[in-house]
Amino acid sequence: MIEVRDLTKDYGQRRAIDKLNFSISKGDVVGFLGPNGAGKSTTMKIITGFMAPSHGSASVAGFDVFENPLEVKKRIGYLPETPPVYGDMYVRDYLRYVAALKQVPNDKIEKSVDMAIEKTNLGEVQKRLIQHLSKGFKQRVGIAQAIVSDPEVLILDEPTVGLDPKQVAEIRDLIKTLKGQHTIILSTHILPEVEATCEKVIIINKGQIVAEDSISNLSTMEKGQRRLHVRLRKDVQDMKTVLSPIQEVTAVSFGASHKEWSIDLSGGEEVVENISSLLVNKGLGLVELTPAKRDLEDVFLKLTYGQAQKGGEA
Ligand code: ADP
Repeated sequence: MIEVRDLTKDYGQRRAIDKLNFSISKGDVVGFLGPNGAGKSTTMKIITGFMAPSHGSASVAGFDVFENPLEVKKRIGYLPETPPVYGDMYVRDYLRYVAALKQVPNDKIEKSVDMAIEKTNLGEVQKRLIQHLSKGFKQRVGIAQAIVSDPEVLILDEPTVGLDPKQVAEIRDLIKTLKGQHTIILSTHILPEVEATCEKVIIINKGQIVAEDSISNLSTMEKGQRRLHVRLRKDVQDMKTVLSPIQEVTAVSFGASHKEWSIDLSGGEEVVENISSLLVNKGLGLVELTPAKRDLEDVFLKLTYGQAQKGGEA
């Protein structure tokens, strides 16, 4: 549905994005995640046809963004970082105006506006001036204008920035309800936003893609690696020595106390069995042994800031 090839953008001397390549399939809900300044908005502006790349190409539903900008714009609903909502218009009038602009046929405009108002729960404010609405409601108007033409693709750039926690939760719930009806790209620097709403994630840092995978794959340990959490009745000061007979153990670290340890290992279940036998035979009082998923936050920090540690190293 969306193909991006070698996409590069220079602002003068500054390279904002550098040879980005990714594909997004129909119906996917993808988080475009990266710290501020990573190049997310630049990428979104190019895909939506608001800005030309310096090199490379992007296409939506088979249409090149620059050769066929109208075909692309017809298929995309875009919520930019700063929503283009006109304060001196009434909510319903504004949505009618956007629908007409997006070439929704005249006889379908009222129905399309009703649909957008219903999905974004704007019924009670549809006759109010946009400038009198709260920030959360304005953001909903921004989403309503993106969906009013029922586009195949929805691109939402930082949809919850500047909202209070209740409004954030409401917008995330709204995005969840849009799943299955559109292919969605959600650009954000907030990791929980991606975890709450997306199935796949593309992580971008300093203008380059550093990871592209499903959330579940990214949050699992790297291939062939496992992590176990163990809880013991007894304190252990030097777990490394305790586990030294097992060569497959690659790292150990303690958690809240020296009774709780994370053990990284390579190899399969037989290694897990060996570890549990060893801890039991040493009489350490093994009360819990669970396989751990790697925290997505660890992965994100490691990829973007080169650090991934929590708790103590042993
Ligand atoms: P993000 O959306 O991830 O925060 P942006 O795409 O806005 O990142 O910016 C990527 C880089 O390009 C940043 O270093 C930013 O300072 C720079 N940049 C963005 N827009 C412009 C512009 N209009 N002129 C010059 N530099 C820009």
